[in-house]
Amino acid sequence: MADTFDVVVIGGGPGGYNCAIRAGQLGLKTACVDKRGVFGGTCLNVGCIPSKALLHASELFEEAKTHFPKFGIVTEKLSVDLKTMMAHKDKVVGELTKGVEFLFKKNKVEGIVGEGRITAPGKITVKTKDGTRDLEAENIVIATGSDVTPLPGVTIDEKRIVSSTGALSLAAPPKRLLVVGAGVVGLELGSVWRRLGSQVTVVEFLDRIIPGTDGEVAKQFQRLLERQGMTFRLGTKVTGVDQKGDILKVTVEPAAGGAAETIEADTILVSIGRSPYTANLGLDEIGIPRDKRGRVVTDAQFKTHVSGIYAIGDVREGAMLAHKAEDEAVAVAEIIAGKPGHVNYDAIPSVIYTYPEVAVVGRSEEDLKAANVAYKVGKFPFTANARAKANLTTEGFVKILADAKTDRVLGVHMIGPDVGNMIGEASLAIEFSAAAEDIARTSHAHPTLTEAIRQAAMGVGGWTMQM
Ligand SMILES: Cc1cc2nc3c(=O)[nH]c(=O)nc-3n(C[C@H](O)[C@H](O)[C@H](O)COP(=O)(O)OP(=O)(O)OC[C@H]3O[C@@H](n4cnc5c(N)ncnc54)[C@H](O)[C@@H]3O)c2cc1C
Repeated sequence: MADTFDVVVIGGGPGGYNCAIRAGQLGLKTACVDKRGVFGGTCLNVGCIPSKALLHASELFEEAKTHFPKFGIVTEKLSVDLKTMMAHKDKVVGELTKGVEFLFKKNKVEGIVGEGRITAPGKITVKTKDGTRDLEAENIVIATGSDVTPLPGVTIDEKRIVSSTGALSLAAPPKRLLVVGAGVVGLELGSVWRRLGSQVTVVEFLDRIIPGTDGEVAKQFQRLLERQGMTFRLGTKVTGVDQKGDILKVTVEPAAGGAAETIEADTILVSIGRSPYTANLGLDEIGIPRDKRGRVVTDAQFKTHVSGIYAIGDVREGAMLAHKAEDEAVAVAEIIAGKPGHVNYDAIPSVIYTYPEVAVVGRSEEDLKAANVAYKVGKFPFTANARAKANLTTEGFVKILADAKTDRVLGVHMIGPDVGNMIGEASLAIEFSAAAEDIARTSHAHPTLTEAIRQAAMGVGGWTMQM
C-alpha cells in the first residue's frame, strides 16, 4: 500500500528542503525525496557551501601574504596544507547536511533517500537501495535542481577536465588552470586556485565577463582580477581539447571567426553554466512541458500544466540561486496551505564571493536605459570610506540607481570588500520600496563599510558629504 502525504517534494536542495520544512511548519504531512544520499542538494554538497569554505580559506592565505606585513604582522613561513583546507570544507558540508536532517525531524518531515518518479498525478514511485516505495500525495513539488552544462566535444572526467564538483576537490593546485566561462562559478573557483598557486586563464565566448551584471561593475571587476594575476581571453571559444598526452592542448578560436590557436593547460574547469535537471522524473509521460532551455514550465503560482504538481528552484525559470529557490520554496508551501505565497524577484540579490566581492540587487543602468526609465545615480568609492582604509580594502564602489521622479531605489550595484553581506540592506530597501533619501537619512554605524551605501544614497540627492 502506498504511504499518503499532503505534500511530497522531489529534490532535497535549498528549494526542496526549505519547501518541506515550511510545509511541515504549516501542519502538512510532508515527505522530501532525494537520490543523493544526503540532503542539501547542489548548494550544501557541491555548490555554495564548499566553494565558500575554500574561498574564505584561500582569501585568508592571500591576505596573510599581501596585507599582514603592512599591518606589522610577521609571518616568516607561510604555506598551505591543502589536505587540512579540504578537511575543513568537508566538515562544514557534513555539519550542514546533518542539520537538514535535524530540521526535518523537528518539523515532522520524512526524508526519503531514493530516486523519485512521478507515475501519475498524485503518485510517486521512489527507487530506494532496498527496492521501490510508492507514495501518494495531493501535492507534488518538483525541486530537482540543475546539473553542469557540458561543453560539446569535451569530456569531463573530474580529474584533469573538471566541472565545479571536481574543482572543489583537486589534490593539488594545477600549474596552469584553464577556466572555460567567465561567470560566477568560473571566477570564484578560478580565484581559489590562483590564490593557491595556479596560473589561471579564463576563456569566455562573450566580449565581457559576468554577463547580465552592470557593465561598469564588470569592467572594474575584470581590471581587479587581472591585477591579481588572472588572464582573460574574451570573445574566444574553446572548440576542442586534445587530452592524449600529459599536457592538455586546448584549441580556441575567436568567437567571431578567425584562426585557431592552441593553449596548453594541466587542468580545465568547464563552467559554462548549469542546466535544469529532470531526467527520469516521468514528466513526458504525464504531460508536463519544458521550455526551450529545458526548464519546467510553470505559472506565477509555480503550478505546472498538471493540477497538483508544482516546480521551484533551478528547475524552473529565473536566476539559479539558492536563496531564489528558498524564496520560491516558502511561497509554494504557503500557496499549498491556502495562503497568499509570493516572491518579489526584483529584491533577490546576487553575489560573487571573490575578493573584492560583487553584489547586486534590482535593475542595472543597461536595463533602465532599455526600458526608458529616467533614473538618478549616486556613487561612492571605498577609497573614501574610513573603515575600508583602516582595513586596506579600498577597491571598488557602491552605485545606487533611483527613479528620477520618485527617488525610489531601483537598483544597487556594489563591488568591494564584504559587499555580499552589505547587499541585505539594499534588498530590504527595494522590498520596502524605500527612497534613496530613506537610506541617506538612516543612521549607519561608524566606522563601517555600510557607510559607503549611505554616502552613495546621499549622492542620488546630490549631497554626498564625505567626498
Ligand atoms: C560551485 C557552485 C557554487 C554555487 N554558489 C552559490 C552561492 O554562493 N549562492 C547561491 O545562491 N547559489 C550558488 N550556487 C547555485 C545553487 O547551488 C543552486 O541555485 C541551488 O542549489 C538550487 O537549489 P535547488 O533546490 O533548486 O536544486 P539543487 O540544489 O540542485 O537540488 C536538487 C536535488 O534534487 C535531487 N534530485 C534530482 N532528481 C531527483 C529525483 N528524480 N529524485 C530524487 N532526487 C532528485 C538532486 O540529487 C539534488 O540533490 C552555486 C552552484 C555551484 C555549482
